[in-house]
Amino acid sequence: MNDAEILGLYPVSYAQARARFLAAAHAVHATVDSQLLSGYADAMGDPLTLDAAYLGPKDASRVLVMLAGTHGSEGYAASPLLTAFLPQASRWLEHQGDIGVLLVHAVNPYGFAHVLRTNEHNVDLNRNFIDFSKPVPGNPEYRTLHALLCPADRSDSGARAARAALDAWMAEHGQASFFDALFRGQYEVPEGLIYGGTERQWSNRALQALAERFLGQARRIAFVDWHTGLGEYGKPFFLCFNEFGGPEWERCCAWWGRDAVETRGGFNGAARPRYSGLVFQGMREFCEQAEFAGAVIEFGTTPPDATIAGLQLDNRLRFDAELGDAQRAALLEQAMESFCPQDPQWRLDVMQEGLAIARRAFDGLCAWS
Ligand SMILES: [Zn+2]
Repeated sequence: MNDAEILGLYPVSYAQARARFLAAAHAVHATVDSQLLSGYADAMGDPLTLDAAYLGPKDASRVLVMLAGTHGSEGYAASPLLTAFLPQASRWLEHQGDIGVLLVHAVNPYGFAHVLRTNEHNVDLNRNFIDFSKPVPGNPEYRTLHALLCPADRSDSGARAARAALDAWMAEHGQASFFDALFRGQYEVPEGLIYGGTERQWSNRALQALAERFLGQARRIAFVDWHTGLGEYGKPFFLCFNEFGGPEWERCCAWWGRDAVETRGGFNGAARPRYSGLVFQGMREFCEQAEFAGAVIEFGTTPPDATIAGLQLDNRLRFDAELGDAQRAALLEQAMESFCPQDPQWRLDVMQEGLAIARRAFDGLCAWS
């Protein structure tokens, strides 16, 4: 692909992204599975679906699984990656026996279509994969922070006062505590940030259905959940959730390089938050018969401070009833910029690096015996 072809793959809407992914899947005769999110639509009134394409023998024991759009708006960057990967994977599979590839497009179709990170219930799907029959993980710090991150008074003076109070909280508790309280997820404030919900979401069940349909025979799974936001601008940032130092962790290091897998760059050098309910953990449980190695892979867009501003903006788009049309359009443009920058160099780098990372995972899977 030349640069113009790569840039041409980046979609301007969910519907366009979906159409291109499905066309690419049909072109290589993939098995396509579409699940409809009923009761919701995109801005044009068109349906929302979670689509998957499977390539390779049905009973492959080794499968590469890649997800796009767990955080809906991040799908604008990850969707073209899956679409570009389909013909490549199809060619490589001609020379392989027991290997499958499962690509999942728009894990969160509502968020993708409406340029929101969260789903139709303001749930961050990447915190929703917990056992809701047990007490949810507590996060008392978030309750305090919520009033400062999403102030009720949205005027300039209200925003300034909230920011000053937030800075004071960080000065007292430290940046690492702040990142942990914000990013590990919370289950108490439904209108808040990084809200994990009170029950399993539609997308959570849809992923389980896909695992049952396509991964029941798998014994070894290489997994990538593509995201954007954290990390250095235009560079990949790996969040491997396998046990540190265990065999699956070591496998990820072998595929992608130890320095990349063990970096801490995405949180300003602070420790990784104590996440709960990740899609990674959920998929791992849906495929409990398999060895499961992989990572969330982010591509950096904005510095950490701006990432937080991006979350706040996302929240305003959903909950600020007073937004005028022009203001909403401006915020949507800002949101897009924080999840999939227009900068052609960023888009080219993400595509090239993303495809290279996928290739290394595929090769690693082929050599995994
Ligand atoms: Zn994300």
